[in-house]
Amino acid sequence: MEMRLKVSGAAAAAGSVTDFRFVTTAAALDAVPENAVLEGDIIVEGTLQSTGTGFRVTGTAKARRSFVCDRCLKACSENSAYAFTEDFRPSDGEPSGDGESVFEGEVLDIAPLIHDVVLSAQPMQNLCRPDCRGLCPRCGADLNEKDCGCDRRPIDPRLAGLEKLLRDSEEED
Ligand SMILES: [Zn+2]
Ligand SMILES: [Zn+2]
Repeated sequence: MEMRLKVSGAAAAAGSVTDFRFVTTAAALDAVPENAVLEGDIIVEGTLQSTGTGFRVTGTAKARRSFVCDRCLKACSENSAYAFTEDFRPSDGEPSGDGESVFEGEVLDIAPLIHDVVLSAQPMQNLCRPDCRGLCPRCGADLNEKDCGCDRRPIDPRLAGLEKLLRDSEEED
């Protein structure tokens, strides 16, 4: 889909600020994350500001995000908001730089910007909460709910031999 902002007429007067609002979906934006599901509508709201030499687009894309916690495997969902700011200048044949896009004619399409914003804002890790304790690797208990009491100390291979020696000597006593 396209998200077209008209940048001619009154919107082009320096200092002019225009509000915009679009309702889209992850599928329509072709912004489907690999490790989460963005459910329902994505609401994109913001302002278009004429800077004299171009336009500044500022706003927020809001989505309902569902995922499975990487540590405890619990199904979670949360409201997420992705903020964006981008400067657009009229195309003069030169490629655009960082944080800058170009447009041609009287319409500026922010769909590619929103697509990138939504995908790049997805966290690398999906956690139900920042300090999720995960599952016990021994018995599978959810350690957020209880401590199962298993010995979960990782065994250093260099110490495993020593531990065996100690155990053997204890058994001899
Ligand atoms: Zn978790
Ligand atoms: Zn356990």
